[in-house]
Amino acid sequence: MKTIHFVSLGCPKNRVDTEVMLGVAERAGYSHTSEPSEAEVIVVNTCGFIDAAKKESIDTILELSEHKKGACRKLVVAGCLSQRYAGDLEKDLPEVDHFLGSSDMLKLGTALGGNAERLLVGNPADWVVSASDPRSVSTRGASAYLKLAEGCNRKCSFCVIPQIRGKQRSRRPDDIVEEARRLVDAGVLELNLVSQDTVAYGRDLDDTVRLAEVVRRVADVPGVRWVRLFYLYPEKLDDALVELLAEHPRVVPYVDMPLQHAADAMLKRMRRGNGGKRHREVVERLRKAVPDLFFRTAFIVGHPGETESEFQELHDFVEWAEFDRVGVFHYSDEPTAQSFSQDDKVSRRTALARARKLMKLQRGISKRKNKALVGKTLEVLVEGPSEESELVFVGRHAGQAPEIDGVVFLSGGEVRPGQLRSATITRTTDYDLLGEVTDDAGDDARDVVRTAPPIVHRASDGRRVTLRTVT
Ligand code: SF4
Repeated sequence: MKTIHFVSLGCPKNRVDTEVMLGVAERAGYSHTSEPSEAEVIVVNTCGFIDAAKKESIDTILELSEHKKGACRKLVVAGCLSQRYAGDLEKDLPEVDHFLGSSDMLKLGTALGGNAERLLVGNPADWVVSASDPRSVSTRGASAYLKLAEGCNRKCSFCVIPQIRGKQRSRRPDDIVEEARRLVDAGVLELNLVSQDTVAYGRDLDDTVRLAEVVRRVADVPGVRWVRLFYLYPEKLDDALVELLAEHPRVVPYVDMPLQHAADAMLKRMRRGNGGKRHREVVERLRKAVPDLFFRTAFIVGHPGETESEFQELHDFVEWAEFDRVGVFHYSDEPTAQSFSQDDKVSRRTALARARKLMKLQRGISKRKNKALVGKTLEVLVEGPSEESELVFVGRHAGQAPEIDGVVFLSGGEVRPGQLRSATITRTTDYDLLGEVTDDAGDDARDVVRTAPPIVHRASDGRRVTLRTVT
């Protein structure tokens, strides 16, 4: 069989695109190898959102291009970096055989075929995944991402995603539900709903399409056990959605809502509409309606114009809100972002110091919240053996999203990937939990077979590739 190796960088949305390309490759007779030196074709699905992601993408391409001296016959670069810097990369990386953009996943079939001419990136707004596209899920255990829409219509000052991914294109509800069914048939129990701006789902379709209704339909697909919502923009939430989070037995009480800041003037500079007061109202409303809610959010510090007192306001807000988990990012000055032209840039040193301070505060809060779970019995979705030992299995409770929120290390019973088991939490570390299995294996125990997940490489060989942004 022909072999192909994938590296998927960046966010879960990119991960779904990688999985579609993996599906295309499998249809073309390729099997995935986790060993790049054995692969005839290597595909790097890049991220190009901020400087650190760009560097990681280029380092990865350069490292993997070394395999062209060995078994590799074709090197394909796809995704956001490729879309954003099409001209520069095509010129500076002659060793890359084909470039695919963020809407070109299905074109991988052409790139794999015979002596196809060098493919170059297409229009970023051409495509959104559909249930009929081939897709091979690569996430661990019985979990998968389900994309609701592609692109974004907002104008946040710091963000270049709408330039890279185009305007929002929501999938039709029937198509989403159909894909949910297919994923469940393939052994998936947990569906993680993603898009760039999940709250805005359906606004580009007709008036009858509602996010809450689609979430409910997905959660009602027979066999689904957990549905989780990501990337909720902090605007007035639909009552029906809050009700689902509070009451639907298969919509987990988990919210991922990037708030970005808490000071009014900063939110205005960030073009994030709502002020800090509204943020407090959203947090209070969700906590009141969903008492066992796990709340994940993210903030950017060091955005142009951020004063010490505005940062302090954010710090106070985080102290008040006691989120379960917080991602803290220091601002990255991107040439085509609106914030690039804003005055009062904050020094990198100050931004890093603020990020450290906020993370320190949150570390204490997260630790306290984890400790409060000791003695509780939680339902845990078993993922598989831990990375440290084949003998220790890990799983996640409903408040732990895959690949981002830590895990539960399981002891005291035989478990299999894909099972939902009860575990009593006995100890905690900074991010993870230890749990003792307290039930017998249920009838619904199912074996879950997964292809090897794409491996992410980090490398640097000192060669420079110039990225100039074309506006
Ligand atoms: S809503 Fe998200 S993806 Fe859209 S512009 Fe804002 S930060 Fe970027």
